[in-house]
Amino acid sequence: MKIVVCIRQGRNGEMSPFEASAYESALRIGGAEVILLSMGIPSTADYLKSLTRLGAKKAILLSDTRFAGADTLATAYALSLALKKLSPDYVFCGRQTMEGDTGQTGPMTSELLGYSLMTEVMAIKNITEESAQCMTRREGECTVKAPSLLTFERICDLRLPSLFSKMGEVEIWNAEDIGADTEKCGLRGSPTRVIQTFENQSGKRKCVFLDKDALYDTIERVLNTEVLATEKTETSDKKIDKVWIVGKKPIEFARSVSDDITVIDSADEEEIAQRITTEKPNAVLFATDAESKRLAGRVAARLRIGLCADCTSLETDGETLFMVRPALSGKVIAKIKSLTLPVMATVRTEEDTKERIVVSFGHGAVGCIDRVKAFAEKIGAGIGSSRKVVDGGLIGYDTQIGLTGKVIAPEIYIAIGISGAVQHLAGMQNSRTVIAINTDKKADIFEYADYGFVMSAEELEI
Ligand SMILES: Cc1cc2nc3c(=O)[nH]c(=O)nc-3n(C[C@H](O)[C@H](O)[C@H](O)COP(=O)(O)OP(=O)(O)OC[C@H]3O[C@@H](n4cnc5c(N)ncnc54)[C@H](O)[C@@H]3O)c2cc1C
Repeated sequence: MKIVVCIRQGRNGEMSPFEASAYESALRIGGAEVILLSMGIPSTADYLKSLTRLGAKKAILLSDTRFAGADTLATAYALSLALKKLSPDYVFCGRQTMEGDTGQTGPMTSELLGYSLMTEVMAIKNITEESAQCMTRREGECTVKAPSLLTFERICDLRLPSLFSKMGEVEIWNAEDIGADTEKCGLRGSPTRVIQTFENQSGKRKCVFLDKDALYDTIERVLNTEVLATEKTETSDKKIDKVWIVGKKPIEFARSVSDDITVIDSADEEEIAQRITTEKPNAVLFATDAESKRLAGRVAARLRIGLCADCTSLETDGETLFMVRPALSGKVIAKIKSLTLPVMATVRTEEDTKERIVVSFGHGAVGCIDRVKAFAEKIGAGIGSSRKVVDGGLIGYDTQIGLTGKVIAPEIYIAIGISGAVQHLAGMQNSRTVIAINTDKKADIFEYADYGFVMSAEELEI
């Protein structure tokens, strides 16, 4: 059995925990020939070489200046050509990579390859050259016929190399090696383009700093203050017509740019792609839950259309639809345009929170998780967290708030030991009242908070 594992080296040299799970799961399959596949700059070869020590027979690096600047569609195109050449029984990918984090490349690659797709794999129960039986997060036990692409959740840690392990070879392939049409590669082949970047100003609040003794009183006062409902999504003055939403979740985003909205209820990619071809909408919006992302990726790849992931807002000048989302590891907000029609995007929609208060803990509070949990329990709050805490394996992904976690808007959001990275803000900045607890008065989170407490999480009184 041949398994190709797709890996992307993160900026800090680390691999996403999801990709680590994909690689480890492949290595655990007795007798399987495991090959690593990556796209990146030439120095990635050293990284891949070191990873072959864990058991992969060899690694392939797609490296060519013409691959540079690829969006998810252009990346999936190059990967799918390399995979066609390797012709594996299975392709294992992480749910998402470290930097891009879109969760789109796997579904798009499977579509371009014509492979079946199984997402959110939690465990492999049985795997043969014919089929794989897996436990998935959403659908439970599922069987998929080979050849197939599987995307893995964080389910296991990657083994360490043994002292005597040997390194495998790394082959470097360019555009000609995979028979790529260079018009479809890299920036040239990427239908989504960043046209403007700017500092994230939305959601800024005037923070009132208070003494730590005032914490409980502040929470009580805020809970007892009635506020008038506010408009959450900014609406463009101009509108575009023929905007489709798949499922009802993206309705607020659609309303911000259009009065002519059609809800598509079908979850079948073939039918949606067919309707798009014949009815030609101007935009198609999907939510960002796993199923919507899978669907969006497959439809976009089938139609060879650009897809912008995790948009936090939309804008239009009446002719073009612009998508807005954090970029460059969250340092800036980017305004993105699609060169293909319809404009396709997944949009960050809010989840209904049962709790009126959410206490979210970040890396600064990991030393006193029990104290923070006891505090949350005392005030009847639900628990949230930053990605750094989730990536550290200290709490489940279902608590992650932010661009690639949940978007919530409780009455009170209490951020403890959270720095206020733009990706985190994307998940909580519509909360009615934000309270920040941080030892560093200069932490960005205070700029997005109504009340600030400069104190350590350890000083929380229970
Ligand atoms: C593509 C992409 C997607 C991402 N998606 C998300 C996402 O969905 N959600 C998310 O959260 N992040 C996301 N991130 C990560 C994000 O950029 C930040 O790295 C992350 O939010 C930082 O987590 P943090 O604030 O807990 O940790 P840090 O940035 O390390 O901040 C810790 C804070 O704790 C404070 N502190 C230290 N000690 C104490 C103490 N004893 N008491 C109180 N305060 C203390 C420090 O002053 C500091 O401000 C994403 C990143 C990328 C590139």
